[in-house]
Amino acid sequence: MVKAEGVHKSFGHVEVLKGIDLEVASGEVFCLIGPSGSGKSTFLRCINHLEKVNAGRLYVDGELVGYRQKGDKLYELKDSEVAMKRRDIGMVFQRFNLFPHMTALENVMEAPIQVKGQAKAEARERAGQLLERVGLAEQQRVAIARALAMDPKLMLFDEPTSALDPELVGDVLDVMRDLAESGMTMIVVTHEMGFAREVGDSLVFMDGGVVVESGHPRDVLTNPSHERTKSFLSKVL
Ligand code: ATP
Ligand code: MG
Repeated sequence: MVKAEGVHKSFGHVEVLKGIDLEVASGEVFCLIGPSGSGKSTFLRCINHLEKVNAGRLYVDGELVGYRQKGDKLYELKDSEVAMKRRDIGMVFQRFNLFPHMTALENVMEAPIQVKGQAKAEARERAGQLLERVGLAEQQRVAIARALAMDPKLMLFDEPTSALDPELVGDVLDVMRDLAESGMTMIVVTHEMGFAREVGDSLVFMDGGVVVESGHPRDVLTNPSHERTKSFLSKVL
């Protein structure tokens, strides 16, 4: 579903991603961990067209992200083409990014009506079902429902629980666990190692813009082979 080959991203002279190689299979829960500033959010933002890759290749569902290839040459996609591709990817941030002037129901209905041209009644019914599915308890679950309303083929989560009160974390993780069981492909940046261990199919430890170590979450978390991974885990576990 996602394939990165030597993905580089710089901001000015600062190189943030220094050649990321990884592959996320369809239906997989792929966890991304690493210290602050290691480039986790930047990588997610590249997948979702919020940042442009400077070098290397990034594919979502077999299609190059951000560019069209003709022969040896790459051409940047037009905004309208980018918008089409972004419809297939849901993203949930640490802060909820909900529209504050709308109700939960309106938040979830908005994109299907505006972007997909869905009829209001249909969008409302579907939004109600989706909100029921995730529960009405708090905003992050609404944000997840809103992303699901677009029927994404890939969901990106950027530390979705780190701004929550501890007693609410479990609720959101439960929604994510259900979503994983339904077969959704998910890339999850998280500090919740319990979630990674129980729900994750793969885990990558990133540091300084590179993948340091990857494998099955249980293996990486219990038996890390790199010093940098060990030292990071000793601080977060
Ligand atoms: P955290 O765990 O704190 O969320 P992260 O792994 O998500 O960290 P990023 O947010 O991807 O890290 O940031 C990686 C580096 O890129 C940081 O040094 C950050 O300051 C820099 N950076 C990110 N976005 C920009 C930007 N738009 N312009 C300049 N520098 C940026
Ligand atoms: Mg981040």
